Amino acid sequence: MFLIQSALDMDASSRFLNQSLIDRHRDSLNKVDGPANKDDLFESIIYNLKKNKASVVSHYYVDPLIQEITEKTGGFVGDSLEMAKFGSRCESENLIVCGVKFMAETAKILSPEKGIFVPTLESTCSLDLGCPAAELKELKNKHPERELVVYANTSAEVKAMSDWVVTSSIAKEIIEDLHFEGKKILWAPDKYLGSYLQKETGADMILWDSACVVHEEFKSNGIKDLKALHPDAGVLVHPESPPEVIEMADAVGSTSHLIKASKELDFDKFIVATDKSIFYKMSQFSPNKEFFEAPTGGVGSTCKSCAHCPWMGLNSLYNLDKCVLELNNEIQLDESLIKLAKEPLDKMIQFNA
Ligand code: SF4
Repeated sequence: MFLIQSALDMDASSRFLNQSLIDRHRDSLNKVDGPANKDDLFESIIYNLKKNKASVVSHYYVDPLIQEITEKTGGFVGDSLEMAKFGSRCESENLIVCGVKFMAETAKILSPEKGIFVPTLESTCSLDLGCPAAELKELKNKHPERELVVYANTSAEVKAMSDWVVTSSIAKEIIEDLHFEGKKILWAPDKYLGSYLQKETGADMILWDSACVVHEEFKSNGIKDLKALHPDAGVLVHPESPPEVIEMADAVGSTSHLIKASKELDFDKFIVATDKSIFYKMSQFSPNKEFFEAPTGGVGSTCKSCAHCPWMGLNSLYNLDKCVLELNNEIQLDESLIKLAKEPLDKMIQFNA
């Protein structure tokens, strides 16, 4: 396994977190929507969704109130692969995507005839930002013999130049299959997920060097300390986390896999190393179980994410309401880009069918 040091000096993915974003993220963590306010906003969203022939699709990492209104209005809450599939089968003319930009772009690529809108255009992802298409193209040109496999958390331009797009729920199966066929892989952008896949499958992989600002912060020492307080707790870990955290897991996998594990594993308590908004779904399925955030802190830590994605946190009931009312913040992509980026996405969906 090789690790490519990008020209962007990838050692600190948290450089994407500027102070204003961190401050707004902290506000979103502290924000409490009063019941009256919540009811008014729910009513307005329900009314305007009908009026504008729109549905909402949301990721497990957005505010639980958004997940609640999504389900209440017949929309869909899921991981990025499930969101993409829902987007293509849903019959509404317009789709409001509550998550981050690459998810909305994926919806546009798979359903170009639909209007795709987002509550905020600012919501992006450190993995997408850490993998500029021009730099990846340079690396791809140096390794023409390798299959370029990219994580879904990338721009439409990056997807368009790739052989395969994968989400964390299907990455292992696709890499295993390629390895079985004797193919070598160029992987981008998440180095931790890439190294986990390399270890699990034995595939020959060159890894891009980027990371998720949320999962990179989980600390194995913090989990050990928390385990000492709750020795009977299971540990659930998303594979975007560092290897020493993955090693402590009772279950490793995508958000959907972790939710399933929280239901099925024989523990009454779980320490969860992924975005804490997932607790909404986990508690829905297992109301009698206890869930603890895996620590992101520790000695000398600055805890920039505090187990919640700062970009997912920019989605709120307020900007969702505005988006549903005005159908603003539309995602637009060139037809030629859509055509190229659709090929690897279709391959992934067919592989999963
Ligand atoms: S949680 Fe990490 S991978 Fe997911 S959108 Fe946020 S920064 Fe990107």
